[in-house]
Amino acid sequence: MPGTARSLTRITRSDRDFDRLRRGWNQRFQANPFEVVLPTDTREVSLALQDARDRGLPVRIRSGGHSVDGFSAADDAVVIDLRSLDGIDIDPDAKYAEVGAGARIHAVYESLAAHGRVIPGGVSHTVGMGGFITGGGLGTLARWLGAMAHNVAEFDIVDARGDIRRVTPQREPDLYWACLGAGGGNFGVITKFVLRLTPMPTAVWFRLSWPWNHFEAVYDAWQRWAPSADPRLTPFLAMWPTTTANRIDVGGLFPGTEEELAGLLAPLFDLGPAPAEREVTVTTFTAAMSALLQKIADDSFDSSTRAVTASPFFAEPLSHDVFGALRESHVGPPGNSFVWCLPGGGQLTAAADRGTESFAHGRAHHLMLIRSDWSDPRDDEACTSWAGSLYRHVSHRATGAYLNWTNTDIEARPQLFYGDNFPRLVETKHRYDPDGVFDFDNGIPASVSLRQAQRLALPDTMVAELRSRGRLVE
Ligand SMILES: Cc1cc2nc3c(=O)[nH]c(=O)nc-3n(C[C@H](O)[C@H](O)[C@H](O)COP(=O)(O)OP(=O)(O)OC[C@H]3O[C@@H](n4cnc5c(N)ncnc54)[C@H](O)[C@@H]3O)c2cc1C
Repeated sequence: MPGTARSLTRITRSDRDFDRLRRGWNQRFQANPFEVVLPTDTREVSLALQDARDRGLPVRIRSGGHSVDGFSAADDAVVIDLRSLDGIDIDPDAKYAEVGAGARIHAVYESLAAHGRVIPGGVSHTVGMGGFITGGGLGTLARWLGAMAHNVAEFDIVDARGDIRRVTPQREPDLYWACLGAGGGNFGVITKFVLRLTPMPTAVWFRLSWPWNHFEAVYDAWQRWAPSADPRLTPFLAMWPTTTANRIDVGGLFPGTEEELAGLLAPLFDLGPAPAEREVTVTTFTAAMSALLQKIADDSFDSSTRAVTASPFFAEPLSHDVFGALRESHVGPPGNSFVWCLPGGGQLTAAADRGTESFAHGRAHHLMLIRSDWSDPRDDEACTSWAGSLYRHVSHRATGAYLNWTNTDIEARPQLFYGDNFPRLVETKHRYDPDGVFDFDNGIPASVSLRQAQRLALPDTMVAELRSRGRLVE
């Protein structure tokens, strides 16, 4: 029967495709959902949601399935899988693109490249736009253009009641704010984004490398320079352990000329040692992201990847007492392990000052991604301990963690991911999803009890704000 829940494509446990479709990217977290629903448009998403609610079944939203902690599926839940909502339509002036939440990030890059346009996306082929954008979305153009969450003009969402809403900053400022940066899995199912595009037909790719014995001097020079460098630069810092390249790199993609770049890198060389290797080439965003991905990791979906991440944000440069732990983590780590840092500043800070979106870490000095992936389950303990141990050594300096690179094994306090926005997010949650239809570990609750506040060690100021917003239940 067309137009009813009965016409939806559902894959249940007895279907041959169920095992393939229930899986997310990280094989460590594989749920056994009740069924996977594959809607083909926003109206079907609404039907799927209302149908799950009518049957009293929990719901999980999935776009690309890359949640490191497997948040996009749960045992006995209905997984609303948006893989078929993958349309990419670019307007005739190439100023905006309508992109389905299930579109894979590299497919978007390729479509935009045909028009000489970019978005500030990250390093992956198969990450889904839905999770990437709603959690913030950081990449090698972040200081120039902001996070992906800062590049959304409007979006379509199916809310907790199944109603379809077009959300703009003027029409629904709270929902717009909440969904962009803190939205993944929390407020509704976003089905389509209208993205702002930026012209960048080519750019200059650079990689500077030092042997590992220069690590302290290079980290220190980078952290004193990168967060206040020219905002067109987002120079990452990559530490490749003894098991791979055994070196430290500074690299990035610059939307200007080679001559300008040379001038902008000069202050880094004044602060630290001269690099042993320099690579500078003119390339495209798409080609640069593919090349970088090859160096970083396998993001293919059908592999047996097991992974762990941790993602502290820091408010200031790291002091030398932390360098010992980084040096130790560099020697013979298990799995494919590395540490990668991204500087703050530029448009990330400007967007935080505007406050139109809820990405909570725009004023951070830098982000550190600690990551390991492997395929043999017998390596789980060694790899998760490696990441956990390094995280614990640096976390006393951290001011938050990144919702898109979570680690519930070691850190699950929501205020870390949502920052000072947490009380307003709780109030917004209460307004749009009072029954907690959209729920997961690390999710935003519709209210907080005093006991929960104590268990989560919420600061007094946050407890007071929750009370003044009427969301602290005694
Ligand atoms: C190989 C790899 C490379 C990565 N590279 C980067 C990078 O360069 N920069 C960066 O910032 N991050 C990066 N990430 C992290 C990535 O951004 C997050 O894992 C992101 O949440 C994945 O989105 P997804 O749609 O693929 O995942 P999913 O597992 O489908 O979803 C992730 C979360 O978002 C929610 N969600 C998904 N779709 C929607 C929607 N349409 N509406 C509302 N909520 C939704 C889910 O419920 C879940 O909680 C990378 C991850 C991997 C595995």
